[in-house]
Amino acid sequence: MTGLNIGGFAVGEVMEWKGVYRDPLEMYPDATKPEVDRHRSWLEPHSIDPATGNVIMAFRSYLIRTERLTILVDACVGNDKERPVRPNWHRQNWPWMDNLRAQGVEPEEIDIVMCTHLHTDHVGWNTKLENGRWVPTFPNANYLFHKTEYEYWEEEHKTQDWARDAFLDSVLPVVDAGKATMVTGDHEIDTGLWLEHTPGHTPGAVCLHAEHGGEHGIFCGDLMHHPLQVPESQWSSMFCEDPDMSRTTRMAFVDRHAETNTMILPAHFADVGGGHIVGGGPDGKPKFEFAR
Ligand SMILES: [Zn+2]
Repeated sequence: MTGLNIGGFAVGEVMEWKGVYRDPLEMYPDATKPEVDRHRSWLEPHSIDPATGNVIMAFRSYLIRTERLTILVDACVGNDKERPVRPNWHRQNWPWMDNLRAQGVEPEEIDIVMCTHLHTDHVGWNTKLENGRWVPTFPNANYLFHKTEYEYWEEEHKTQDWARDAFLDSVLPVVDAGKATMVTGDHEIDTGLWLEHTPGHTPGAVCLHAEHGGEHGIFCGDLMHHPLQVPESQWSSMFCEDPDMSRTTRMAFVDRHAETNTMILPAHFADVGGGHIVGGGPDGKPKFEFAR
């Protein structure tokens, strides 16, 4: 495992891709160059590329292992997916499965799959291509879908071109195979593992809380895409379905967890994903400190 630990829950990460992603001014429509530049000193070189000034992002899943359960949080883009509108994600062949096995976990051992939301880059490994059909990758897993999120994409995929393929090849086959359970936004998976509905990035986005042995971690998906959004929590990304609600949710989240011992584990932060919201950022704002 990666070596992160939440009070005895072992946390690992399964990396799909990590690299220089895009211009922060494009990613965050409300950002200005002087504001971004103020944060470069604490974000280079791990999270902002010194050469281009572009953000560095990771696409990863997390593994949580408790005494009873092995849980996969988010499922990246996936291999062999037809994504003509996203060329970087089209018919890929990433070593994600090798990276899962490198954590000592076989697909058959995953008990729970929890997608924080149903965007294309969080559902891909839900399914794999087998004899020309999409089938669940984790045959023994119960896939948890937040009902609000599922119902949103069940409608949206009919009209949003870029969302259609992922719903049809990475979500629906799981439901059709009888492997999905629709849950509410406050669902408790097991003792110390529960969901929190954090709408905005998508209507049914959730965080997964893990509390054990006196420690607390939150797998927060795309509530934040990059550590810039810790001091600048008012910046919603170009990918947010409802930027205003996303802003409100994120600002409250950063306030609530700033300068606490809560480990924050977003889906796309580079470096080791987890860390803490600490003080000491520019202009008296909070910043993000990676766990190692
Ligand atoms: Zn994402």
